[in-house]
Amino acid sequence: MSKIVHRSLRGTLPFAVSAQGVHITDHEGKQYIDASGGAAVSCLGHQHPDVLAAMHAQIDTVAYAHTSFFTTQVAEDLADTLVANAPAGIGHVYLVSGGSEAIEAALKMARQYFVETGEPDRSVFIARRQSYHGNTLGALAVGGNEWRRKQFAPILIDVGRVSPCYAYRDQLATETPEQYSERLAQELEATIAEIGAKRVIAFVAETVVGATLGAVPPTPGYFKRVREICDRHGILLIADEVMCGMGRTGTLHAVEQEGIAPDLMAIAKGLGGGYQPIGAVLASTKIVDAFRKGSGLFQHGHTYIGHPVAAAAALAVQKVIARDKLLDQVKARGAYFEKKLRATFGNHPNVGDIRGRGLFWGVELVEDRATKKPFDAALKLHAKVKAAAMQAGLMCYPMGGTIDGERGDHVLLAPPFIISEAA
Ligand code: PLP
Repeated sequence: MSKIVHRSLRGTLPFAVSAQGVHITDHEGKQYIDASGGAAVSCLGHQHPDVLAAMHAQIDTVAYAHTSFFTTQVAEDLADTLVANAPAGIGHVYLVSGGSEAIEAALKMARQYFVETGEPDRSVFIARRQSYHGNTLGALAVGGNEWRRKQFAPILIDVGRVSPCYAYRDQLATETPEQYSERLAQELEATIAEIGAKRVIAFVAETVVGATLGAVPPTPGYFKRVREICDRHGILLIADEVMCGMGRTGTLHAVEQEGIAPDLMAIAKGLGGGYQPIGAVLASTKIVDAFRKGSGLFQHGHTYIGHPVAAAAALAVQKVIARDKLLDQVKARGAYFEKKLRATFGNHPNVGDIRGRGLFWGVELVEDRATKKPFDAALKLHAKVKAAAMQAGLMCYPMGGTIDGERGDHVLLAPPFIISEAA
């Protein structure tokens, strides 16, 4: 029996013994097509020679140096590259080891900003229901996935909560998408008023909702109104692009398509493409300047922040994406993928909705297409879909049946950017 505490302690997992491009092969020689990118991680596919070479070169030079003693050229180069391609106002990068760490760091940066700037009474975050921001305590607290939160709720900080932007289920038949965005903006405004605008630190949201709802993009104007409301009240905007960022939706950052810039943005997954554990917070100049002028430090830190081999992997991934113009490929392959998804499943009686952007797609499964009635959670449909897909040699990312008890099942598809039409 395995000594590892695996995600599930029931059943056994196949061993991954080799991987190449969009495929992973198990110990019995069975090949799986990676259509989830390891939950939207593997953007370049597996064993990309440029990334492996960059990691080897870094290991041969400096494999590790603690960041309280040294910086490394590779970490500086990665930060320069990320800032050069970041939304307006972003001037700095805090390098961590993954998505949850990035969210934790962003929450603390936001809080410290107000301590530094003389507003220590700001102590409340506002976030959305049916969201996922990671599994560490701060990230879990702002996250709105009840199944993940439930048993830990007594040890989580209180968070102000608003509705997700989830047009398929929540936009009224009498509303335009813009009117729906406006209704959600009014809800945010009312929640801020209820908490007290001067007590709110930040609004936290995934630009395109990933794991909890299944690739749900915002409706038109939603983030513009959110940005405007946050600005008016001096509240920071934290965009969680851990899953939807770094090219997944066809632009490097999903916020580009919303025409806004956040104050802090968490990125991970596609940043290092799975070659190394790495995430980052992209921070606005105003925040880091406040730290510089004030205490002179960001009061945080982990042993592996700015890890040079992780930075080398991420820098190589980003260089390949730019050199091979892979964002164009995400748009083109994404359009093809959408066409195929709609042609294959668009009329299926149990497919309620198909939505997404770029190479980030969600298919919502329902018992009744007309009423949008979800399948009974007890059916554990997501587990059955996953098992059937693995049997057929396909890695996809089905979830659901547990979200607020009745919000439904969906299958997330996020293949590597290098996928061919034939695959
Ligand atoms: N935020 C979002 C939107 C995510 O999808 C995830 C992971 O799926 C996280 C944060 C947490 O990232 P990690 O699993 O790397 O800690």
